[in-house]
This record gives sequence, C-alpha cells and structure tokens, in this order.
Amino acid sequence: MRDSVLIVDDDVNVIVALQVLLGAAYALRVARNGADALRLAQADPPDLVLLDVEMPGLDGYEVCARLKEVPALAEVPVIFLSQHHDDAAELRGLAVGAVDFIAKPPRGPVVQARIATHVRMKRMADALRVAAWIDGLTGIANRRRWDDVLPRECLRALRNRRALAVLMIDVDHFKAYNDRHGHAAGDACLRDVAQALQRCVHRPADLVARYGGEEFVMLLPDTDLAGAQAMGERVLAEVSAVRRVHGASSASPWVSVSIGGSAFDARSPGWQRDGDAVRADLSARDALERLSSQADTALYEAKRQGRARCLCPWPTEVADA
Ligand code: GH3
Ligand code: MG
Ligand code: MG
Repeated sequence: MRDSVLIVDDDVNVIVALQVLLGAAYALRVARNGADALRLAQADPPDLVLLDVEMPGLDGYEVCARLKEVPALAEVPVIFLSQHHDDAAELRGLAVGAVDFIAKPPRGPVVQARIATHVRMKRMADALRVAAWIDGLTGIANRRRWDDVLPRECLRALRNRRALAVLMIDVDHFKAYNDRHGHAAGDACLRDVAQALQRCVHRPADLVARYGGEEFVMLLPDTDLAGAQAMGERVLAEVSAVRRVHGASSASPWVSVSIGGSAFDARSPGWQRDGDAVRADLSARDALERLSSQADTALYEAKRQGRARCLCPWPTEVADA
C-alpha cells in the first residue's frame, strides 16, 4: 500500500504542482480549506500532511494545532508550505507541532526528498510505538498500552455519554500450576489464555491487555454492566475450551480464570438521566478510579466465592438507592 499524503492548499496551482511531483509515489488526497482538511484527516489518518499557512478561514497554524489535539492524528507529521519564509513564521509553525517548513513555490527534488524522509521517520516511529505496546510473552497489548488507552477511552465515554466497561481477569491458582507443571508450561499457559481472551473480542475499540503476571484486563467501550457480564461468561467458556489440565486446583480440572467486571452507564452513580440522554457529573479521573476499584473488588469476591466465575455487581451505592 502506498503512503498517503494529504495536501491542504487554497491555491489550485500549488495543488496541481504537488500532484505532478508526488502523484506517482503517494496516494494523494486534497483539501482546499482547513475544515475539509480536518474532516478528511479524521476520516482516514494520512501518513503526512502538507499544509498551506495562508488560507481563508482556518489558517495553517490553527489546522495544525487542531490536528495535534486528536489522539489518532497527533503523530502524523505536518509540513508547512509558505510564501513568507522568515524565522518568525517558521518558529510559529514548529511551535504548533510541524516537523518542517517548505518554501513556495515547491521545488521538485527537494520537496520529494524531504517528504520521503519524514514519511520514513513516521513509519519507524509507528513501528517502535507498536512494539512498545506489545507484551513480550503473550503478544497481546501490555500494561503500558492499557495505561495509555484507558484514560482516553474514559474521557471519550464521558464526553459522548457512552457506557464503558472493564473486566479484570486473573488465572486461578496459578502459583500451583507453575509448581506442578513448571515455569515453561506456565508461560505457555499464559499465552493460551491471552489468545483465548483475544478471540472473545470482536469490536475494533475493544482492548485486551496483560496487566501483569497472570492478570489480564479487558476494556469494552459502549458496553454496560449486562454486556460486561455477557463478555465475562464468554471469556470463561473460551478459557475452559482451551482444555489445559490444571490438576492442582480445586476449582476445576482445567485452567480457569476469575473475573471481576464494572461499568459506568446510565445507572451508575454520578450519571443522571436527562430525558432520554444521560448526563455525567463524574470527572474522568473519578470514573476511572471507580471502574478499576469496583472491578478489583468484584474479582476479589469472585475468588472468595470459589473462583472460575465472573461477577459484575451493581455498585453498592446504586443497589442501596
Ligand atoms: P489465585 O487463584 O488467588 O489468583 O491464586 P494464584 O496462585 O493465581 O495467585 P498468586 O498471585 O498467589 O500467584 C500468581 C502466580 O503467577 C505467581 C507467579 O509464579 C505466577 N506468574 C506470574 N507471572 C508469571 C509469568 O510470566 N510466567 C509464569 N510461568 N508464571 C507467572
Ligand atoms: Mg491468580
Ligand atoms: Mg494475581
């Protein structure tokens, strides 16, 4: 697949010149103003943006600043194109997040070389970022990825008034499994469990991560407590279908997990019904802390009740109301 470049300029002559220069090497899209540029970039993030500074409506600085605010677009390199090539303009561009500045009119080989360099660096940065998010043992997302995604999804759920669920999943009596079968078998078992968890999720925004040791977590956007419970049951079934003999556990002949789930949705404390809509009075930080601590408490309770089960209880504040 060719790398994609979004050209943003109100001047047709510049657009045509850039299309001639870059059309063979890149998949090009064109926006004639800042608003269209933001829309196109959000719909499908490009590998690089060539951005005119002087445009009617939103100018290039404003467009660049807004691109950098969108998490999915923050790492897309932006190169400014400007007639007025002075230090102040260039510094301002760099301050809002641009990686480079190209003088107009664009000169062929120089423009091609600079764009190639920035696209290559962007590809390398993407690869490093993805590698840094992967758990070495199981190949699924790691704790760092989880810590990166969870606050953002929390904010997004609150802003859009959507439900959000979390499952904490802990392998039962795993110390005994290691003691009986050896550490290498323990590692293989964790890989099997991770794959089983991964098979359970189907939506693109769902995230399964290894939280640490033999603990896993699942983040389920647009999912309420009933949905979390349903997913928990699916996880129990998928893990038991792995059919890994435990032999040292009283809970089940097979390796099993215990699951604690929580969600915030229309009936959570801090959320109020406002007609058909739901109003959230929670800060993202409070919501996040509640989600995590409720799931934790539920997991503890699932262990206490005998393991190999999923509990997604109503928060006690609601049950008491
Ligand atoms: P419980 O049912 O209460 O969760 O009991 P448990 O034995 O699973 O819980 P505990 O937290 O006491 O022990 C977790 C064990 O998981 C201890 C450790 O040896 C093992 N473990 C953690 N990380 C790894 C790993 O990467 N590989 C292997 N093989 N074992 C691990
Ligand atoms: Mg355990
Ligand atoms: Mg544990």
